[in-house]
Amino acid sequence: MPYSPSEDYLLQENPNHLGWIEVICGSMFSGKTEELIRRINRVLIAKQTVKIFKPAIDTRYHKSDIVSHSENSKGGIAIENAAEIITYVKQGDIVAIDEAQFFNSEIIDVCQHLANQKHRVIVAGLDTDSKGRPFGFMPQIMAMAEFVSKLHAICSVCGNMAAFTYRTAEATSSIFIGADEAYEARCRNCFNK
Ligand code: ZN
Repeated sequence: MPYSPSEDYLLQENPNHLGWIEVICGSMFSGKTEELIRRINRVLIAKQTVKIFKPAIDTRYHKSDIVSHSENSKGGIAIENAAEIITYVKQGDIVAIDEAQFFNSEIIDVCQHLANQKHRVIVAGLDTDSKGRPFGFMPQIMAMAEFVSKLHAICSVCGNMAAFTYRTAEATSSIFIGADEAYEARCRNCFNK
């Protein structure tokens, strides 16, 4: 289980007294969504309210639920534009955003605004695309965040720690929502081969 510094804040008397942004990033198969679900479950056990969002474009498994590769799922709201998030969030809500790499630049201001309004904002997403380049506006969100957890997968080729997502199937755009078999996690060496 990865260490999550943000959880130190939850040990304080009143975790709602300030907002912040925490990012869960990494390659595919690194357990990002499972880690997001783990944090959401802790929030729910503490009887805090959480709103979960994902881009409507990500329909791999289910229209609005967030679903990890291990099929551990949570109900969520599928949205077209990041700005819609603001309209759903009520005072005191914790905000969870999955697959954040697919949103346009509005996502930056949305995260900042919510954190400034004292919301805990948990953002999960791919930090790099299948060419190894920074993905969408994840770099900006990571730079603004109080906490960043970078998770790793295991290289499908050699078994070392993997930080990259290698595309095994042809596609024209980095916004290619493929089945799992279209991608594999690779270490730097095997990614560059
Ligand atoms: Zn490798």
